[in-house]
Amino acid sequence: MHSAHVAVFAAGAIAAAAAAGAPALPLVNDVTGLDSIAVEQIVTPHSVADVVDAVRTHAGPICIGGARHSQGGQIATDGCLFLDMRAMNRVLAFDPQARRITVEAGITWRAIQETIDPRGLSLKVMQSYANFTVGGSLSVNAHGRYIGQGALVGSVVSLDIVLADGRVITASRAQNAEIFSGAIGGYGGLGVIVAATFDLVPDTAIMRVVRQLPVGTYKDYFLTQIRDDPRVVLHNADLYPPRYQELTAISWLTTDVEVNIPERLAPMHAASARDRFLLSWLSDGPFGKQIREYLYDPAQYAGRRVEWRNYEASYDAATLEPDPGAHYTHALQEYFVPIAHFDSFVVRLAQVLRAAHANVLNVSIRHALADHETILAWAPQEMFGFVIYFREGRQPHERAAAKRWTHALIDAALAEGGTFYLPYQLVATREQFLESYPAAARFFALKERVDPTCKFRNRLWERYDTVPACRGGAASP
Ligand SMILES: Cc1cc2nc3c(=O)[nH]c(=O)nc-3n(C[C@H](O)[C@H](O)[C@H](O)COP(=O)(O)OP(=O)(O)OC[C@H]3O[C@@H](n4cnc5c(N)ncnc54)[C@H](O)[C@@H]3O)c2cc1C
Repeated sequence: MHSAHVAVFAAGAIAAAAAAGAPALPLVNDVTGLDSIAVEQIVTPHSVADVVDAVRTHAGPICIGGARHSQGGQIATDGCLFLDMRAMNRVLAFDPQARRITVEAGITWRAIQETIDPRGLSLKVMQSYANFTVGGSLSVNAHGRYIGQGALVGSVVSLDIVLADGRVITASRAQNAEIFSGAIGGYGGLGVIVAATFDLVPDTAIMRVVRQLPVGTYKDYFLTQIRDDPRVVLHNADLYPPRYQELTAISWLTTDVEVNIPERLAPMHAASARDRFLLSWLSDGPFGKQIREYLYDPAQYAGRRVEWRNYEASYDAATLEPDPGAHYTHALQEYFVPIAHFDSFVVRLAQVLRAAHANVLNVSIRHALADHETILAWAPQEMFGFVIYFREGRQPHERAAAKRWTHALIDAALAEGGTFYLPYQLVATREQFLESYPAAARFFALKERVDPTCKFRNRLWERYDTVPACRGGAASP
């Protein structure tokens, strides 16, 4: 790899290989710290030319990292050249009148919010937290709590991507449409996304409306009172473990009432020591889960709260982390099931999690409209998503136990005509993957066409791709 423009560094710990006399390799990891991967080199491109140079001159596998919030090796594989995209973080064009913004792919949603908020604009779709990069979010085709929206693809106008042969192309619905459909939700498999253009919407004041409901009444409540109400901007429901019988439905409606949270963006900070202790205790202390359900949440959701949409969209994911422990971490999973299968999936989910004694802190229920645009769509029809936030022990037997109940939950989702989400730990079998993503063969054929040596590689594609070049080992130069 030769480039005057590219900064190369070996960040973080150095692989144990050094101790064995082998050359030391830099390690990359995701936010859970569970998937340390020794890469050949970490490169930080600052421009499209830097990315092109890396792709053209490096013969072996290349992998791509954004904010590293995917959890399971989606960002890297052993011995790859790792492109850390976070320095490509500029706003390239912003037209408030046209409500459109073009950004480099390593920028975070938060940095975009800081640009567009003073002009009274908001992102149309994003995750529930703002720390993620645009490239990482496009590559999983993320979603949030938005009602009347589907996945992120719906807000994308176009993207620029560097392909395996070093060409830079623009992909949109009208131009290179197959690359557009494949790269969004394509986990870095087709190339390096270097820029993207998004449609924006007005920022508005939103008021919180909270209902506590038995889970059996939720689907009807959602369909009759939330789904088609144009005032509802955001909605989710928190299903309480370990009984999985009651939930709190939280909606944010546009309003003319004056905001009582004057800040326009949420503060960026980790949870305070007090909050971490409280969260940890509520999740693991004696009667913690019951206290959360019957005392803590009702108190938390009491009273009127009116905020700006951008405030509610700008939370720091670090506030989610309870007291971190050397012996455990906190991880996420998500399953999607068709609307009609909501009640039957809840029964299966509760059975699996209770039988496994999984330490689930929360199950957040979301809604997404069908995605008919991306090849690897996780919502090929209108779906409810179930986001599971759980504590996972770091010991091999604890990880093996989590893997067993994860397999069972994937089977439960598939049995209900559903799918599982790919940014989380890679425990699904190839069969489960192919059943969940039946258009994968089309994606692999496209990948083979534009990346025949499987230059763009990570653990996810090594595990699921059926093309031999992607199944481990160095790519043919
Ligand atoms: C606390 C937490 C909350 C979350 N909440 C949500 C949520 O509400 N909704 C939701 O949908 N998801 C959610 N997620 C999952 C999250 O959206 C994904 O992990 C997303 O990929 C994070 O973006 P990132 O920048 O960290 O990407 P990374 O983890 O760095 O990368 C993800 C994938 O994108 C690829 N990639 C990254 N940058 C590029 C690029 N420029 N070009 C090509 N490929 C690239 C990587 O190779 C990798 O395969 C959550 C995750 C966490 C940890």
